[in-house]
Amino acid sequence: MRVGCCIAGGGPAGMMLGYLLARAGIEVVVLEKHADFLRDFRGDTVHPSTLDVIAELGLLEAFLARPHQEVAKLTGIVMGHDVTLADFTHLHTRCKFIALMPQWEFLNFLAENGRRFPAFRVMMSAQVTELVRDGGAVVGVRATTQDGPIEIRADLVVGADGRHSTVRAAAGLTVRDLGAPIDVLWMQLSKHADDPNSALGRFVAGHVLVTLDRGDYWQCAFVIPKGGFDALRARGLQTLRDDLVAIAPFLHDRVDELRSWDDVKLLVVTVDRLRRWHAPGVLCIGDAAHAMSPIGGVGINLAIQDAVAAANLLVEPLRARSVTERDLAAVERRRTFPVRVTQAIQVFAQDRIFRSVLGAPAAAATPQAVPLPVRLLRRFPFLQRIPARVVGVGVRPEHVRTRPSTSSR
Ligand SMILES: Cc1cc2nc3c(=O)[nH]c(=O)nc-3n(C[C@H](O)[C@H](O)[C@H](O)COP(=O)(O)OP(=O)(O)OC[C@H]3O[C@@H](n4cnc5c(N)ncnc54)[C@H](O)[C@@H]3O)c2cc1C
Repeated sequence: MRVGCCIAGGGPAGMMLGYLLARAGIEVVVLEKHADFLRDFRGDTVHPSTLDVIAELGLLEAFLARPHQEVAKLTGIVMGHDVTLADFTHLHTRCKFIALMPQWEFLNFLAENGRRFPAFRVMMSAQVTELVRDGGAVVGVRATTQDGPIEIRADLVVGADGRHSTVRAAAGLTVRDLGAPIDVLWMQLSKHADDPNSALGRFVAGHVLVTLDRGDYWQCAFVIPKGGFDALRARGLQTLRDDLVAIAPFLHDRVDELRSWDDVKLLVVTVDRLRRWHAPGVLCIGDAAHAMSPIGGVGINLAIQDAVAAANLLVEPLRARSVTERDLAAVERRRTFPVRVTQAIQVFAQDRIFRSVLGAPAAAATPQAVPLPVRLLRRFPFLQRIPARVVGVGVRPEHVRTRPSTSSR
């Protein structure tokens, strides 16, 4: 097979880039190693700046017709105090809320709409295993599929294959690890009609719990100190159930739904970024270029923004079939600053808020133990607009500059 652009990975970055390139008439194939998008624990947040992008594509109405919740304020209970952590209602965006939509819904939405473009192709159960080179440049990929191995030649290969990217490793791109003092346990607990639904994050001395409303169940993220999972397991599942009830007492009548450790998924948190995002013929975007901490839930948003920037800068070189390293460097230059700033804020929050809350002994659950940034947000509500801007819009938001090609199905 020969295409203009071959994208490894059908996550938010890969699917959005595939959609945008095909919309502009560039022949594109997205290779996704899984058979479907139905994987859990991948984050649910579609931010106001991503909703702006969806609106620029003329898809907002159809998107919002899909099952989702709208969150206008991020709230929490920190050391027993209710606090609004971010207020999106003042943003200058079309939608002044975060849409909580399971990621498989979002990816299916992009796949279904992408099918309108003849140049769009997604191959499921297709795992990129190596890069094809000619001289010093990458000219394609090899992948395994259900029908056997395939080779795809492309003017550009994009690694959008996430934080354990095969493409970036095969391209020899080196990673700078910024470190993360936390890991996350994900689990589901049923939701009852009379549950409190305002608090998204609960911080008590020693523990942090985030509950995402998925309609009939809570998607729970229990934050633990880095590497602390084995010690927690050794203490037994009942300890985890007790911890959950201590943080969110309303869960007391359903923590037994966690029957074994199989119901608890460990997600190792990583914050890193590539020193260089590209090599001749190949570019990495999204988590493959910069794995984000789950703090602020901005990873999907950044992945989408990378895709929009890449499409804006690469459609013309791809159309001319002359993508140079200079073009790829332009994408990196455009996106490095937002990534660095966002990761710096995440590392600050990890170290100043999460580390201190997780490290605090239970006896420290006094008003004095509330971290300073949270005290300021409570005291001066207008400050809630700052995290709203950082989380909801981000640094240097991207806008769709590419034009649709005239052919669509
Ligand atoms: C615990 C945790 C919670 C998070 N919660 C949120 C949240 O609420 N909101 C948010 O915005 N972000 C969240 N994130 C971050 C977010 O999941 C990522 O930043 C985002 O999904 C990155 O998108 P991506 O497309 O770059 O990569 P991914 O979403 O990782 O997609 C990569 C895709 O590539 C595929 N793939 C991998 N290797 C290959 C291969 N060799 N060949 C073919 N396909 C391959 C994978 O199957 C996957 O579908 C969270 C992260 C963690 C760790």
